Amino acid sequence: MRTGISVPEARALVLDAARPLAPEIAPFEHALGRVLAEAVHSERTLPPADCSAMDGYAVRAADVAQPGALLRVAYEVAAGGLAPRALAAGEAARIFTGAPIPPGADSVVRQEETEARAGEVRVLVAVARGESVREAGEDVRAGDLVLAPGWRIGPAEVGMLASLGHTLVHVHRRPRVAVLSGGDELVEPHETPTNGRIVSSNAYSIAAQCREVGAIPNNLGIARDTPADLERLLRAGLHADVLVSSAGVSVGDHDHVRPTLEKLGVQLVFWGVEMKPGYPVTFGRANGGEGAFVFGLPGNPVSALVTFELFVRPLLLRLAGRSDIARPEVAAVAGERFSKKPGREHYVRVFLEQRADGALVARTTGNQSSGVLRSMTLADGLLVFASGDSEIAAGARARVIVLDESVFARAAR
Ligand code: AMP
Ligand code: MG
Repeated sequence: MRTGISVPEARALVLDAARPLAPEIAPFEHALGRVLAEAVHSERTLPPADCSAMDGYAVRAADVAQPGALLRVAYEVAAGGLAPRALAAGEAARIFTGAPIPPGADSVVRQEETEARAGEVRVLVAVARGESVREAGEDVRAGDLVLAPGWRIGPAEVGMLASLGHTLVHVHRRPRVAVLSGGDELVEPHETPTNGRIVSSNAYSIAAQCREVGAIPNNLGIARDTPADLERLLRAGLHADVLVSSAGVSVGDHDHVRPTLEKLGVQLVFWGVEMKPGYPVTFGRANGGEGAFVFGLPGNPVSALVTFELFVRPLLLRLAGRSDIARPEVAAVAGERFSKKPGREHYVRVFLEQRADGALVARTTGNQSSGVLRSMTLADGLLVFASGDSEIAAGARARVIVLDESVFARAAR
């Protein structure tokens, strides 16, 4: 087991062994946000035939080379309809958007550029061949590779799958995450904490962090601070893809997580990452390195959130098949002086505000204690204060991991 390693080293140890979970079949309407595990080739041509892009008249370009041509309106063809016969010279067909172009016609003149009369239409403009016609296959041709493995399914992809009639898709399975908490001081949110007890908020913020990336959390509840009770819940959690426990990983007399994990056959990969908050974060693999990914996050609510953010979140995204697993980062301007002792990398909770010149300015949310959950509710991002540094001067550039992407919308205003 490694100890006292850097954040990038720890992250590499977590991600090195992570492969996308095996595919499963999902109905396309429920595949939003998931990652394709197959190549989708089209069996269809879209649009299936040349059709009108406008409401107007289908014409023969040769008849309307000059403005002012008068044509006989032979028939009407609406979306979903078919022309009863080919269009002859000197004829127009009333046509609507999406309707097939009648045989013989080659162009469409927009309604706004015509004058209708009884049984006839005057075309006020010259019309070029092919105008306002959507060609068959201009979107997709039969045989095209339309979506590839690794592609994330967004709303447009859901629409495309519908258009192609590809109603069942192979997507990577969503990671299942067992979440458990430990501590004699903890109660559930519906209980009233007495005698200095507190609510186990971590289970709920961790479950929410799982849901945010499409993983499926299962809250196993609170283990008492005894090896036996902890063993009972941890054992249950090892059936998941990922087990995330919080608290009990430090060096106190009641911190039983690490020895219990080892007893259950979890191979510990690291304990102790040179970061603040979150130093005692623990990671291992069950079943001698083949089984569930196991995290022992520190119990302080901010430490749990930040270590999840840095180590668990990218793992869950990778398991779900995502290749874009990083949060956006910005080079922000320090809005004040930041200082610390050199040694550990600090993740400072910051507000991000836009300056008149467009730069994002980072300011502390206040008390940076790892027990102050409020500082996370206020934070737009985490300023990465490099391990070797002791000062960031006001006005200097600083790396900020953006947690709340609405800062970009605010910046653009
Ligand atoms: P520990 O790692 O067990 O020493 O816990 C560190 C701190 O985190 C203590 O103040 C605990 O009360 C707190 N803590 C532990 N688990 C939770 C939890 N599930 N929700 C909120 N706070 C917790
Ligand atoms: Mg504890």
